[in-house]
Amino acid sequence: MSESKLKVFALDRLRMTTDGSGVTTLICGMGCPLRCRFCINPGSWDGSVSGKEYTKEELYEAVKADSLYFLTTGGGLMFGGGEPLLQSEFLKEFMEQYSSSGWNFYLESSLNVPRKNLEDVIPYIEEYLIDTKDMNPDRYHAYTDGDYQRFLNNLLFLKDRVGQEKIVVRIPKIPFLHKSGEEARLNGEKLKELGFTRLDFLTYLNPESRKDISETARENLELLAKRDK
Ligand code: SF4
Repeated sequence: MSESKLKVFALDRLRMTTDGSGVTTLICGMGCPLRCRFCINPGSWDGSVSGKEYTKEELYEAVKADSLYFLTTGGGLMFGGGEPLLQSEFLKEFMEQYSSSGWNFYLESSLNVPRKNLEDVIPYIEEYLIDTKDMNPDRYHAYTDGDYQRFLNNLLFLKDRVGQEKIVVRIPKIPFLHKSGEEARLNGEKLKELGFTRLDFLTYLNPESRKDISETARENLELLAKRDK
């Protein structure tokens, strides 16, 4: 059987305070099922970037230079994407193999994956950053190609398994989809009712202010701008 490999979009070293604790290296996996209308990393799924493959040992070699920073600050590796859980088997094998490194492992995910993919990594992850997009199914489906119910079921399953203390839920304000600040506030209220207390509100960059907006993002922007509340 050939050795499994992780297909990576980008590695970003020496991150502080943006995700996880301490100093982290962000490992962006290729592939994503969501197709968010204003995706910030379309190269992870649109075929414009080929990515680079790593075996477990090659990935370890690529990130180990910062081991001392990880160990002294309580940091480690943040798996993001794209959607990192599309490659959950590799992540599971990697974290198992390097569980004695002393590094912490963090996950940033939208949870729109089969349940098994999430279960693969739960034993190893210290903290989760969950990108909720929107807690209203209608708006969720207007903004993504994902399945809202699958996301919600996985979110509640994760809370039951690891406790909400380990989960930060990101609640974005999305230009053109959200007509006011009210949608994000209501999304926060719904998450509180579901038992989450670690809420992280953020505002997505207006796609109009990006220099290199793609033709698809332009069309999405026009569709969402026209959409009724
Ligand atoms: S979840 Fe992230 S990578 Fe995937 S489509 Fe949305 S913004 Fe892009």
